[in-house]
Amino acid sequence: GDQDHSDITTDTRKLFEDLSGAGKSIGVLTSGGDAQGMNAAVRAVVRMGIYVGAKVYFIHEGYQGMVDGGDNIEEASWESVSSMLQVGGTVIGSARCKEFRSHEGRLKAAHQLVLRGITNLCVIGGDGSLTGANLFREEWSGLLEELVRQGLIDEEAAQNNSELHIVGMVGSIDNDFCGTDMTIGTDSALHRIIEVVDAIMTTAQSHQRTFVLEVMGRHCGYLALVSALACGADWVLIPEMPPEDGWEEHMCQKLSENRADKKRLNIIIVAEGAIDCHNKPITTNHIKELVVSCLGFDTRVTILGHVQRGGTPSAFDRILASRMGVEAVLALLEASDSTPACVVSLCGNQAVRLPLMECVQMVSAYVSLIFCRSFENNLNTYKLLSYHKADSELPNSSFNVAVLNVGAPAAGMNAAVRSAVRVGIKEGHKMFAVNDGFEGFYKGQIKEITWGDVAGWTGQGGSILGTKRTLPAKHLDKIAEQIRIHNINALLVIGGFEAFECLLQLYEARTSHEDFCIPMCVLPATISNNVPGTDLSIGADTSLNAIVETCDRIKQSASGTKRRVFIIETMGGYCGYLASVGGLAAGADTVYIYEEPFDIRDLQSNVEHLTEKMKTGIQRGLVLRNENSNENFTTDFIYQLYSEEGKGVFDCRKNVLGHMQQGGAPSPFDRNFGTKIAAKAIQWISRKLKESYKNGKVFANTEDTACLLGMRRRTMAFQPVVQLKDETDFAHRIPKEQWWLKLRPLMKILAKYKTSYDVSDSGQLEPVTRVRPKKAD
Ligand code: ADP
Ligand code: ADP
Repeated sequence: GDQDHSDITTDTRKLFEDLSGAGKSIGVLTSGGDAQGMNAAVRAVVRMGIYVGAKVYFIHEGYQGMVDGGDNIEEASWESVSSMLQVGGTVIGSARCKEFRSHEGRLKAAHQLVLRGITNLCVIGGDGSLTGANLFREEWSGLLEELVRQGLIDEEAAQNNSELHIVGMVGSIDNDFCGTDMTIGTDSALHRIIEVVDAIMTTAQSHQRTFVLEVMGRHCGYLALVSALACGADWVLIPEMPPEDGWEEHMCQKLSENRADKKRLNIIIVAEGAIDCHNKPITTNHIKELVVSCLGFDTRVTILGHVQRGGTPSAFDRILASRMGVEAVLALLEASDSTPACVVSLCGNQAVRLPLMECVQMVSAYVSLIFCRSFENNLNTYKLLSYHKADSELPNSSFNVAVLNVGAPAAGMNAAVRSAVRVGIKEGHKMFAVNDGFEGFYKGQIKEITWGDVAGWTGQGGSILGTKRTLPAKHLDKIAEQIRIHNINALLVIGGFEAFECLLQLYEARTSHEDFCIPMCVLPATISNNVPGTDLSIGADTSLNAIVETCDRIKQSASGTKRRVFIIETMGGYCGYLASVGGLAAGADTVYIYEEPFDIRDLQSNVEHLTEKMKTGIQRGLVLRNENSNENFTTDFIYQLYSEEGKGVFDCRKNVLGHMQQGGAPSPFDRNFGTKIAAKAIQWISRKLKESYKNGKVFANTEDTACLLGMRRRTMAFQPVVQLKDETDFAHRIPKEQWWLKLRPLMKILAKYKTSYDVSDSGQLEPVTRVRPKKAD
């Protein structure tokens, strides 16, 4: 189970109001390779820093700007980070700096910082940049002594600046930093790769082609591996896993088998730094020649290059970077001479702080990245899904497992079904697909589904199986009959709030129908993210990206016009997740949701707040409203209120986003989340089947055999659906407690509101090793 809730004890509870940055100066720089989302991090550091009363300085051009000083170090204002949330790359500039690698260079840099009294540094960069930062801090007191000896600073200045605090944020599209689940920029890079793969797929489908795709990653195959997972690639080559001798034949055999399976398209993904087991680089051209000479397939090479660093940051990267930026400032405020420099990061959905030195040492000692949690997970899942063994080689469990979708479609559902089907087959089960949810179930629309049937499903939006909202309660007898007819031994239900309700109904019907005494599992899949027992659900990320992209466009549509405020209505039922988190990622000024009731006084102060902001040179306002946030304060009402009150200062436009939030190709995150969570669910089902198989029959009637698999903070946990009942507000179809409500103050701070911020949940310093996987059960 999840033990982490006990992490928050009273003595670690910190009061945000006690944290003051008055008198402190924070320097923020981006260094090394650029990555999408760095700007969001800079914006968050600047605004949070100013909010707590500190002075914040941009250090332009990375360490070079720190060494050179002058105009490169510039005080930041609130407005100076306007409009940069949605911009890729880094606005404050990044550079590689040879000088900083030398003692002389670092001495100059120290001098520049002391001149301005900057003793807090926030470094956003890859492992090189953070290694440099660590060295700089270790040398700091020595550097100051030297500056005093040289007469460049006086004793007093040395005294006043005696402690240098450093916090790092990993910005690197490679995700090559041990100890963190996700680095800033990785998700956006995956978006670029997947866009290209999706485009290639359409052309290649029509021509029966093989594509060899090279992606970035000189030492780290993370991007290659995860994109291979996200597009169901036939083969992947990464530096961490040099293939054994004879891999060429093995790969060609695999390609021809897949082709014989009526697959018209083969994709091979190669990381830049792929090597064989003799340390010899494997190039895309070598692979192409191989495929052409062995198989005679029409083969094309695509090298992605800097496309991967391009484009706007994804919703995930903006949220990650904004959360990290705020965390970084908190960490700096709490830092003392005795606390080590740290890296702020997310582990699962939980903020963590890791000692910078340990992270750096792990990378420099080249501890194989395979030991990193997310890397290992990805690798195992990829292996599980990519090789189809001959039926004779598979274990035969003689169990039948049915898979179905329930509720509204959500992007990533198909990836989950594909993964469930394939993992199930590998575990020796016979897999059955049910069309149209429980409606199809009771009508008997149940058919065996095979390995090849689900090929290419990862990238498809909607629900291929078909999905309905029908609940089973009224059709229990017929459903039980179908279970008997098809001899179904276990059930996997993928869907939203209704899926959870369905499982609850079946669980409760176990007393009257023994047929339901089988292992059952529900996977949360809904754009609304309103399922109890999980922080995230499949489909929500795709939807957030749709919202954020649209908000960007809407905002941009008004460039060149007068001051304007946009009122945008989002979906989500009574759940304010999409509105709030979308608002954080799009830089909203206000977000109205059901969970945080608002009255006429709030509306008035929001309008006045916006009017004030508009007087400072900011020209756009963004207001999000969840569809069910308030019965009477409708989107029209709010639009009219803002229009009337804004007269003479700004005008208003409104947009109801509607079903565009549900559609589209699944994001890389949803594809992988769906894939991994379904694999886990099937492995659990196999275990439960074994445990409950007695006297030639499956009989499972305990609570823990009807579970929901969800992500809770940093672990994946199976929770009996009946236990989740108490956590659920059934009338409004939301969990009673929702973690993301904690992000709302953050959004308000970044939109210049005064608010209280609960910091009890902020990251705690922990050793790097603790980030390794914990078994969920
Ligand atoms: P953000 O954090 O999203 O940048 P701000 O509150 O700083 O939000 O500003 C709101 C929005 O106003 C920005 O996203 C941007 O679209 C717009 N904006 C700010 N300054 C200008 C400007 N000088 N010209 C045009 N639009 C601007
Ligand atoms: P990344 O941060 O993306 O890994 P680099 O490895 O190029 O990128 O590092 C960026 C900058 O960080 C370098 O140009 C250099 O100024 C500084 N740096 C890197 N490694 C060190 C080091 N060992 N000592 C001091 N500075 C370093």
